[in-house]
Amino acid sequence: MLSEAGRAPRRHVANLLAEFVPIRLADILMHSSGVEPGTMLATLGRDARLRLIRNLTDFRLPVQCVAGYGKAEVTAGGVPLGEVVARSMASKVVDGVYFAGEILDVDGYIGGYNFQWAWSSGWVAGAAAARHALAIQPPDAGP
Ligand SMILES: Cc1cc2nc3c(=O)[nH]c(=O)nc-3n(C[C@H](O)[C@H](O)[C@H](O)COP(=O)(O)OP(=O)(O)OC[C@H]3O[C@@H](n4cnc5c(N)ncnc54)[C@H](O)[C@@H]3O)c2cc1C
Repeated sequence: MLSEAGRAPRRHVANLLAEFVPIRLADILMHSSGVEPGTMLATLGRDARLRLIRNLTDFRLPVQCVAGYGKAEVTAGGVPLGEVVARSMASKVVDGVYFAGEILDVDGYIGGYNFQWAWSSGWVAGAAAARHALAIQPPDAGP
């Protein structure tokens, strides 16, 4: 920032920041650092410069609330994993019951992990449930 101020003192601070972050974020960083819009590099004081650098490298966004159940994308809690056989997704508590996906106490990061879990556990549970159904079928039952 200092070297750029020496090279182009009349350059706007926002203009320099916009090389590193989107301009709307640059505006927010300047506002929260107490730097007026339109400030030029040459007139940016030491304290303001240090505030700006701190906000640029260590900007804190405290979580104040969640958006509520209506916006929720994954549900925590559910059937405890200790009550399920991982190889078949069969219940250890109730014979012939198989679980998959969100009904289990698994929640992944946003980014496909919950879909993957639902599909993978569904595949295992479905195949195991089919094997179970065939195994308990009476010998004289048709296909
Ligand atoms: C808005 C939103 C965005 C999401 N985005 C992502 C994402 O980007 N990536 C990601 O990995 N995950 C995402 N998820 C999570 C992901 O969708 C779920 O983890 C996944 O769909 C769970 O699959 P599931 O089959 O276990 O349950 P579900 O997909 O919820 O399927 C359960 C089904 O059971 C049916 N059902 C319920 N009760 C009964 C009943 N009594 N009788 C008969 N049927 C019943 C329901 O109608 C539903 O069709 C998102 C979730 C939401 C809500």
